[in-house]
Amino acid sequence: MHVLSGSGRRPGRPCRYCGGKGAGSLAPVPRLSEVITALENLWPAERAESWDAVGTVVGDPDQEVRRVLIAVDPVQEIVDEAVEQDADLLITHHPLYLRGTTTVAASHFKGRVVHTLIKNDIALHVAHTNADTADPGVSDALAGALGVRVVRPLVPDPTDPAGRRGLGRICELDHPLTVRELAALAARRLPATAQGIRVAGDPEAVVRTLAVSGGSGDSLFDQVRAAGVDAFLTADLRHHPASEAVAHSPLALLDAAHWATEWPWCELAAAQLDEISDRRGWGLRVQVSRTVTDPWTAHAASVRPSTTTPAPGSDTPAESETSGAPN
Ligand SMILES: [Zn+2]
Repeated sequence: MHVLSGSGRRPGRPCRYCGGKGAGSLAPVPRLSEVITALENLWPAERAESWDAVGTVVGDPDQEVRRVLIAVDPVQEIVDEAVEQDADLLITHHPLYLRGTTTVAASHFKGRVVHTLIKNDIALHVAHTNADTADPGVSDALAGALGVRVVRPLVPDPTDPAGRRGLGRICELDHPLTVRELAALAARRLPATAQGIRVAGDPEAVVRTLAVSGGSGDSLFDQVRAAGVDAFLTADLRHHPASEAVAHSPLALLDAAHWATEWPWCELAAAQLDEISDRRGWGLRVQVSRTVTDPWTAHAASVRPSTTTPAPGSDTPAESETSGAPN
């Protein structure tokens, strides 16, 4: 195998130009700086929210990149997977440090992540709110996973004259579904999690138009109501905002696991990077992590959910209250 000595990479790495295939292959192995430039074109850092922390967290601009792993969360499990796969670059949606730090000591779990990355020559690059609002972005990937047609952004980016960038997406269904059917579809199409899909509102209401927003979406209720859609699929919905949203209008809410609503973006990002790699002849090997990093690991469904409160002292209140009633 053709190996460059003194390349500053792990021993035994193949030549930057022939990739170990021998003479005749001139595909250049890109430097991290070249790959980062391409990623910045997809998700410019200046389009991130002011509170966000995006961009390259770990990495030497001169290091070579052959293998890339894409995931939602920069947690130890994912970094260990990157090491196993011999990845040179890990791209995640969530930042490692959102609020800054004064230490990267390995005694802390985030410091351990930094140590593992550096010891294994793996760079980390984050695309968060700049990937949310991109065209295509996180909510396009979510809509694509659900098989619904994107019409426009829910909150358009005023700096985009084409009106395609922005937060969330307004979508149309080619064939109307009840809220219950839409929830079942989302449970099938999104990656499986302990939570599944929770529904607020009338399960039998018909959905023709849908707003979607990957990640926590309960700050978007005003825009969702203004859009006049039948349903809103997002994550992390809380009691009061959800209760008020359904009291205001016949809007139905579908609450998925945060991780599950953002994971489809990893596949979109991988396809985008593959396309760039093909165009430039980089020969990158881009993988998407299938490890579930949603923090919720189990879910005990109520025996038979009821719309009435349990009788005091009853062991199986929901069953007795709804005995004989359809599920
Ligand atoms: Zn998120």
